[in-house]
Amino acid sequence: MSENNMNPEESKKSLNFIEAIVENDLSEGKNDSRVQTRFPPEPNGYLHIGHAKAICIDFGIAQQYGGTCNLRFDDTNPVKEEVEYVDSIMDDIKWLGYNWENVYYASDYFPQLWDFAVQLIKEGKAYIDEQSAEEIAKQKGTPTQPGQNSPYRDRPIGESLELFQKMNEGVLEEGSMVLRAKIDMAASNMHFRDPIIYRIIKRPHHRTGTKWNTYPMYDFAHGQCDYFEGVTHSLCTLEFVPHRPLYDWFIEQLATDDYRPHQYEFNKLQFTYTLLSKRNLRAMVEENILTGWDDPRMPTLRGLRRRGYTPESIRILMDKIGYTKYDGVNDIGLFEYAIREDLNKKATRVSAVLDPVKLVITNYPEGKTEIMSAQNNPEDENSGNHDIVFSRELYIERDDFMEDAPKKYFRLTPGREVRLKNAYIVNCTGCKKDAEGNVVEVYAEYDPMTKSGMPESGRKVKGTIHWVSTEGCFDAEVRLYDRLFMVENPADDERDFRELLNPDSLKVLKGCKMESYLKEAKVGDKFQFQRIGYFCVDQDSTDDNMVFNRTVSLKDSWSKEKGK
Ligand code: ATP
Ligand code: MG
Repeated sequence: MSENNMNPEESKKSLNFIEAIVENDLSEGKNDSRVQTRFPPEPNGYLHIGHAKAICIDFGIAQQYGGTCNLRFDDTNPVKEEVEYVDSIMDDIKWLGYNWENVYYASDYFPQLWDFAVQLIKEGKAYIDEQSAEEIAKQKGTPTQPGQNSPYRDRPIGESLELFQKMNEGVLEEGSMVLRAKIDMAASNMHFRDPIIYRIIKRPHHRTGTKWNTYPMYDFAHGQCDYFEGVTHSLCTLEFVPHRPLYDWFIEQLATDDYRPHQYEFNKLQFTYTLLSKRNLRAMVEENILTGWDDPRMPTLRGLRRRGYTPESIRILMDKIGYTKYDGVNDIGLFEYAIREDLNKKATRVSAVLDPVKLVITNYPEGKTEIMSAQNNPEDENSGNHDIVFSRELYIERDDFMEDAPKKYFRLTPGREVRLKNAYIVNCTGCKKDAEGNVVEVYAEYDPMTKSGMPESGRKVKGTIHWVSTEGCFDAEVRLYDRLFMVENPADDERDFRELLNPDSLKVLKGCKMESYLKEAKVGDKFQFQRIGYFCVDQDSTDDNMVFNRTVSLKDSWSKEKGK
């Protein structure tokens, strides 16, 4: 192979089958050694994590081999498409960290596609069929039985040309006629049985307005657009395998030179505990099951971003699951692992107490405070420190105290010692309870000689707990997000998806105690709440009510549950 733009690190990794194809094509000098890809979303909804898989390979291949990747909106159906989606798709791609060379729209090619359809009619390779959609479907046959010819199949070319014009004049009803390619009603590939290539849709289009009343079908647009643009490797998901011969057939009719774009198919992303189909996602928004397309439980890029997932975690994920020719379901735990891996390196460690109870250090002077230093991130020695306040009264997690604790309880219980993270070792002395027996205060004594950073006192304590000083801490809302579905494979479940929802996918906690450092945090900032999980500041935050979203817990609690 001649030069390429891979760094040595990357070239050591084994190639996926798409990279292998591209490298082979380059070594043979195919397409004048050009690599050109495209990402072709239909602007009919928000992008989800499945689309990110396509984006990473479309843009990734272009980057890796010094090629180009264009963004092409597949806007051939004015019924479902909107400008709002065009904007959000661009925004999401940029967020993922990719830049397209050009933005194209399939609708830009409507004139060429029209001319090509006329050419096919003139060559006797397309005809106007006036049958209803039901009649056409009935004649299609089955994979083992040939179809039947339409009674309109051999109508004169002149007639078809005239009617095709008429289809676009806006005088005919939708569904009254279609243009079909004349290929082979007995073909073993069902897509070759005189596929419909144009249909009447009398709706304004988001770009071409009311100029057209007839629109090309996906199969009649996609490959030709690839050809018009000079795409070399047209990557898509496996369900398009049976469409590939038709893709090639149309381009064969169209091409005037040796250049041919080629379609290659890879496995779709599917996750456990997740539904990706746009139909279901839309229903969840419209029925107010979720708060919107950016609900942090949504598998949309909007939702994931708001939840605290990073573009890097998405790329780590795609790298791990790879691109193959076999469909399968990936464990959502892999994605959770990827975000933990990324945030572990980046997120500042802070203290937050989600279910607070007061801890009083009875031998610590009243009114005294000390500034302690907390390391921002032990995984990153350049991350620095921030100040935390220590005082006589602190908040700790309610379940970090137990009055009658079993032997292996390494937290606060009368007579045992724990370390307060970044501060002192304390010895629990007891608690106060209300009339119902609920613990309202916990008591402990500290040892001034055990301040963090002091030479080891030789004392070993088994547990370390986090805490927040009552001095300067503030109350905040915490939204604990969890998986949206209770069952592992909601896509394969016979029950309606509404019956499969996890009732605990969101728990809202109020009055959580945050260390004062968090006051300055901005929307989107990410933190590790020590011992709890990774959290980010939500856009619903206001000056007097900050809201934190749980991105992911520190450990995978689901795999434990499954093992029970
Ligand atoms: P959905 O119905 O789930 O929204 P779609 O295929 O209708 O998906 P498009 O906008 O047509 O959405 O897809 C744009 C690109 O993203 C296509 O190349 C498609 O193959 C790819 N894509 C869509 N879903 C997935 C997925 N789950 N995994 C990988 N690629 C996907
Ligand atoms: Mg689609």
